[in-house]
Amino acid sequence: MEQMVNKTVYNFAPGPAMLPRAVMEQAQREFLDWNATGMSVMEISHRSKEFSALAEESEADLRDILGIPGNYQVLFLQGGATSQFSMVPMNLLREGQVADYILTGNWSKKAFKEAQHFGKVNMAASSEDVNFTTIPDRDTWKLGDQSAYVYYCSNETIGGLEFQNTPDVGERPLVCDLTSHALSRPIDVSRYGIIIAGSQKNIGPAGLVIVIIREDLIGKPSNHLPSLYDYAIMAENGSMFNTPATFSWYMASLVFKWIKAQGGLAAMERNAIARSGSLYQAIDASDFYSNPVDRRYRSRMNIPFTLADAALDGKFLAEAKAAGLEALKGHRSVGGMRASIYNAMPQAGVDSLIDFMRDFEKRYG
Ligand code: PMP
Repeated sequence: MEQMVNKTVYNFAPGPAMLPRAVMEQAQREFLDWNATGMSVMEISHRSKEFSALAEESEADLRDILGIPGNYQVLFLQGGATSQFSMVPMNLLREGQVADYILTGNWSKKAFKEAQHFGKVNMAASSEDVNFTTIPDRDTWKLGDQSAYVYYCSNETIGGLEFQNTPDVGERPLVCDLTSHALSRPIDVSRYGIIIAGSQKNIGPAGLVIVIIREDLIGKPSNHLPSLYDYAIMAENGSMFNTPATFSWYMASLVFKWIKAQGGLAAMERNAIARSGSLYQAIDASDFYSNPVDRRYRSRMNIPFTLADAALDGKFLAEAKAAGLEALKGHRSVGGMRASIYNAMPQAGVDSLIDFMRDFEKRYG
């Protein structure tokens, strides 16, 4: 939420997205003089004792928040979540092996396409035939017996589709793109081989991708890799083989403290259920708005909706903006509207959107 001269702005952007107000204010207070150094955190060496302490503490906080077991490494890398679309197969997919991909939306499809450059991949399931509005039932997935890993995206940011449970893939390493609902609900990390979380939704500003990787999966690439794309090298060097994105890392460290102070992932989940529940209820109660996603898999974070008359889209967006409701335009591939309501979005922001939607419907519906 941003206080402007005479209005409150709620930012529904899918990412980069709004950050908790308290975190932004703390960063503002510390901007010129961090940790009594007399310098900004972005001006000091990543190898200084102050920054090393920040790096260590942020990892400890994240381990605490997610309950990350000791046999997992936590990496703070650059290149966004997209870098992992190639880094995962480069590191895990060896000659003669096949990796299974579950396609449930644009992001898993992109990862699937990228992986094809590095080895053999199998589309084990896809809901593209129904426009990615559902998740294929688990018993229809065609997984290989020896698959190098099974890849899926647990929250499709564009389609607004969320896995409500971790799929059971037996002993195969499960690779999950958690980016757009990371830290919004508790998960059992021990069920995963690799978890990928780009930062610019629930973690901080853009610039970081957090990779949580089970240790036995590190260090087995079949070819020589560029050092920056080798999990083993990044892990050995504490994510500081080269200069990390220090300011984004610092912001993430503040967000982790904020999540802990709010009551951890249980509190994040409670709030997410309340926020998304109220918005879905408003959409479902009206004939004017609709959401196409299978109700079992509706996302708590990204809520696409269309108006009964698409000719009103422009008016809706312009009036919403005038009312302080920003960035509601749906993704160019889907059209309509999308409200992204991550951890930092207060219930008041969603209530304000619902009030606006009701009023708009009254006037134009
Ligand atoms: N995966 C998901 C689920 C995403 O939402 C995004 C970005 N919106 C990405 C991957 C790609 O992230 P980046 O642009 O940081 O590479």
